[in-house]
Amino acid sequence: MIDNQIKNLLDNAATIGIVSHIRPDGDAIGSVIALGLALEKAGKKVEMVLRSGVSKTFHHLAAANRITRAFKNECDIYIVVDCSDELRTGGVLNNRQADIVIDHHVTNDNFGKVNLIEPEAVATCSILAEHMPRWGLEIDEPIAAALLSGIISDSIGFRTSNTTSNSLRIAADLMDKGVDITNLYNKALISKSFESFNYWGFGLAKLQRENGLVWTTLSLEDRKKAGYKDEDDADLTNILSSIEDLDVAVLFIEQSADNVKVSWRARSGLDVADIAKSLGGGGHPPAAGADLKGSLPEVQEKVLKLTKEFLDKMKI
Ligand code: 5GP
Ligand code: MN
Repeated sequence: MIDNQIKNLLDNAATIGIVSHIRPDGDAIGSVIALGLALEKAGKKVEMVLRSGVSKTFHHLAAANRITRAFKNECDIYIVVDCSDELRTGGVLNNRQADIVIDHHVTNDNFGKVNLIEPEAVATCSILAEHMPRWGLEIDEPIAAALLSGIISDSIGFRTSNTTSNSLRIAADLMDKGVDITNLYNKALISKSFESFNYWGFGLAKLQRENGLVWTTLSLEDRKKAGYKDEDDADLTNILSSIEDLDVAVLFIEQSADNVKVSWRARSGLDVADIAKSLGGGGHPPAAGADLKGSLPEVQEKVLKLTKEFLDKMKI
C-alpha cells in the first residue's frame, strides 16, 4: 500500500528533490546518494541537497560532489531521508511540506505527506535497499556502495543492538552487487584524519565521570586548535560509548556562541531518545542528539542536570 503510494508519486514526478539532515552522517549521505542515483537511472531529474554539505569521510562515494547546499530549481516532489523532523533539514525546503519521508528514527514526527518509517530498521539505507526494487528502482554497484556505507556507519560496523540477521542479509545482497566492503568499512569507520585525532585529544583531556554518567565538551577553540574542518564530533561519541560500566555518555559540541550540539549514548536497556526529544531533538533509544540554544556552559549545566534526573529515575 505505502509502496504503491510512493511508486505513484515517483512515477508521476519529472523532477525530484532529495534532502537529509544537517551535519549529515553516513546513513544520511548514503541514503541521499543511493536514492538520487537510482531515480536518475530511472530518467528523473534529481537535485540532492544537504545544508551542511558532505564531510570528507564520504567524498569517495559516487555523486558526493554533486550534492549542493541549497536547491537551484523548483522540483515536482521532495523526499526527506533519515531525518525525523523538518527543522533538522536546516530550512532547505523553504516551508514546503515534504511529499515523502523515509526514516528509521523512533522519534520521527511523520512530517511528510507520505511517511515510510521503520524504527526497527538498522539504517535508512537498509529501508531503501529493501524498498527501492518495489518502486522499480534498480540497485547497481555505486548505489549499493552508498547503501552499504550508510548501513556500516549507522550500525557502527554491525555493532548496534538493532543489527539483525536481516540487516546482514541486506548487506550481503549489496556486497553481491560488486561492492568492496573492506574499503567502505575502512573509509566510514576506521580511517581518520590527523586533525580528527587532535580534536579527540582536546575532548578526551576534559573527560569527566559521575557514577555511570560520562561527559566532555568540544569547544570551537578546540576545533580551531586541532585544525578540524567539519562541524561534527569526528565520531568521538562512538569512542565514549565503549567506556566500560557506562550508563550514559554525553558530548557537547559547541557550534557558535549560542548554539551547542548535544549527543547522548546509552548502554543497552536505557533510552536517551526521550531526553533528546524533550529538548527538541531526537534519535534512537541508545543514541540520540539535539541542537540547543545557549552557551556551552549553560547547555552543559541544563543537560547534565536533566540527564542525571533521568538516570536516577531509570534506576529506581
Ligand atoms: P549523533 O549524536 O550521532 O549526532 O546522533 C545520534 C542519533 O540522534 C542519530 O540517529 C541522529 O539522527 C539523531 N539526532 C542527532 N541530533 C538530532 C537532532 O538535533 N534532532 C533529531 N531529531 N535527531 C537528532
Ligand atoms: Mn540513520
